[in-house]
Amino acid sequence: LHQRDGWIWKNGEWLPWREATTHLLTHSLHYGMGCFEGVRAYRDDNGNARLFRVHEHTRRLLDSAHILDLEVPWSHEELIEAQSQCLVRNGLTDAYLKPTVFLGPEGLGLRAKALSCQVMVVAWDLGPYVSAETAAVGLRALTSSWARHHVNISACRAKTSGHYVNSMLALNTAVKAGFDEAVMLDAEGYVAEASAANVFLYRDGVLHTPEVTSCLQGITRDSVIRLAREVLGVEVQERRITRDELYIADEAFVTGTAAEILPLRELDGRHIGARAGAPGVAEPIAADSLTARLQRLYRDVCRGRLSPATNGDRHDLARYADWLSLVPTD
Ligand code: PMP
Repeated sequence: LHQRDGWIWKNGEWLPWREATTHLLTHSLHYGMGCFEGVRAYRDDNGNARLFRVHEHTRRLLDSAHILDLEVPWSHEELIEAQSQCLVRNGLTDAYLKPTVFLGPEGLGLRAKALSCQVMVVAWDLGPYVSAETAAVGLRALTSSWARHHVNISACRAKTSGHYVNSMLALNTAVKAGFDEAVMLDAEGYVAEASAANVFLYRDGVLHTPEVTSCLQGITRDSVIRLAREVLGVEVQERRITRDELYIADEAFVTGTAAEILPLRELDGRHIGARAGAPGVAEPIAADSLTARLQRLYRDVCRGRLSPATNGDRHDLARYADWLSLVPTD
């Protein structure tokens, strides 16, 4: 990943990709204090890049930094401009961006003073991050023995770099055991989220998702809640959920910026929903399932297909126009 052409924004400067290095004493490398965002840009039907909900992502980045008491020396607008320019400079339209805040190398130890607060923005072509097959057949997940963060142990509203140690313990354990994903419970045993995605279940016409206590307040989560309520007229409840409720759901799925909306087809060896096929058999979800309808809506909104004439299910999605920020090509 590091040996390629391109430009990375660091503290207001554009560094050639291969030369964008940092000192080994970089404080955040040692203790994990830092925060980041994952942002998507989509290529619309005219070939232009549009950043998806970049205002919300940038706000969450600055909120994360504030929670961690990191003083970011850049404004909301400057950070959006850096993300925009990062696409232009790298000639990207369909891309994943990772704005990251970290502490510099001026000192080591927890009591280090006067550490610089550094910011970088890096973007790359995500490629086919999720295959069409995975988006249709979904994931097999294992409930993790690793509990998700607790509000008394860490600050769960922040997207903290160090939080991902916990995510990776859970994900790696699940993957080594032959699963695709981990479902993580909070410290009291209720469903929190997947390793890097929020979790939803649909049963008897109502969509349910855990309230944001231990899980990240996902921006895709918010988009899905709004699309379900406002476009499909589906009731959505945010509440405590137990793992067995996922076992008996009609449908379940996970949401995240990179993965978008992915069906959860199996949890702990139990098949989820009334789809044909035995556990372990991958059947594509039905085109009229809520999961598939939300997938289509979400894809259409991300790609700017907002008028009923341009989107798959002929919905008027004009009210979501402000989720997309056109990247000026200069
Ligand atoms: N939870 C965790 C732990 C995550 O890392 C992510 C990905 N950012 C999500 C949920 C989904 O959040 P979003 O929809 O904002 O990408």
